[in-house]
Amino acid sequence: MIYRNYGQTGKSVSLLGFGGMRFQHIDDHDECVGMMVKAAEGGVTYFDTAPDYFGVKSETVFGEGLSELRKRNLPYYLATKTFKSTESDIRREIEAQLRRLDVPAIDFYHIWCITNLANWEARKKDGILNTFRKLREEGLVRHICVSSHLIQNEIETLLMEGVFEGVLFGYSAYNYRTREKAFNAIRAKKLGAVVMNPLGGGIIPQHPELFGFIMRDGESAVEAGLRFLWDHKDISVTLVGFRGKEDVAQALAAMENYNPRTEQELASLKSRETTSFEGLCTGCAYCDDCPQGIPIPRFMDAYNQKLLDKNGDTAMRQRLSMHWGIGSEDAGKCVACGQCESACTQHIPIIERLNAIAKAG
Ligand code: SF4
Ligand code: SF4
Repeated sequence: MIYRNYGQTGKSVSLLGFGGMRFQHIDDHDECVGMMVKAAEGGVTYFDTAPDYFGVKSETVFGEGLSELRKRNLPYYLATKTFKSTESDIRREIEAQLRRLDVPAIDFYHIWCITNLANWEARKKDGILNTFRKLREEGLVRHICVSSHLIQNEIETLLMEGVFEGVLFGYSAYNYRTREKAFNAIRAKKLGAVVMNPLGGGIIPQHPELFGFIMRDGESAVEAGLRFLWDHKDISVTLVGFRGKEDVAQALAAMENYNPRTEQELASLKSRETTSFEGLCTGCAYCDDCPQGIPIPRFMDAYNQKLLDKNGDTAMRQRLSMHWGIGSEDAGKCVACGQCESACTQHIPIIERLNAIAKAG
């Protein structure tokens, strides 16, 4: 396992991190706890969850898993988040989190899911920064961090405020171009940098033919996708949302046999890459609360096929019927209220795409 400094916190964290958002069998606590133990035995020390992953079930499982790690003297750091912004709401949330997680304090506490700067300003008006500082003074939180879905200049603007010790954001071989500016601020402010969605929400393993530019001889798409990020020296942790023990084993093996590229090799690889992956849905499901009941992530996943597959509309229709078991009719129920687009982490024109899907029939 490789360990890197988390910004200026004095903490050294594992480059491979454990994300608690994709457990395949969340109600099988033995399996989930076993995954955490297996990862920790392989050297993983960074464990990330959130209050809304499977309701509160991910944090509950983490509580059991971390207790098992303590029994086995396996070191760890805990990261979680809050979407709340007023002091009273945050205090209620963190008290419940500490109980569920069975810990006296949270190492890396994130202001969760900033999707646009207006949203950030609104949370600041609610006093979120003062509350976080108080929690740190009281010892309930060790480091103040932020989780962002901003791109281009906006993420740099957010991070340059200088109030955070670390940031969690989406970054992978398919979207690195629009997120690269974050690293200007990460270097300038000496922040810890945790990247999520390292495999682009499954896009990289589903379409290895498009990612030949990151692959070396004999590497799988998963290995190549992870190692491409590990080659980036400013990344402290690459967070993988593990589904089961096999995923944990696969990522640990990728780390064990990892042969880093030099900075020159990485720069040359990026300069040769010409494909644009911009505008793909990563399946994060933050938009999935449509008042019309439209299963937006499924439709946007099918639209990915239209963008990526040479058979265009036919591939999209096949994905809808054969993978998701739905027709295109529901796409036409959109009333263009805009709620989903405000929530979208990838800034996708969902309404326009739903219209196109409905028309494609
Ligand atoms: S814009 Fe359309 S798809 Fe999006 S939340 Fe509103 S009705 Fe649903
Ligand atoms: S449309 Fe946007 S918010 Fe919805 S699943 Fe895709 S990337 Fe996530």
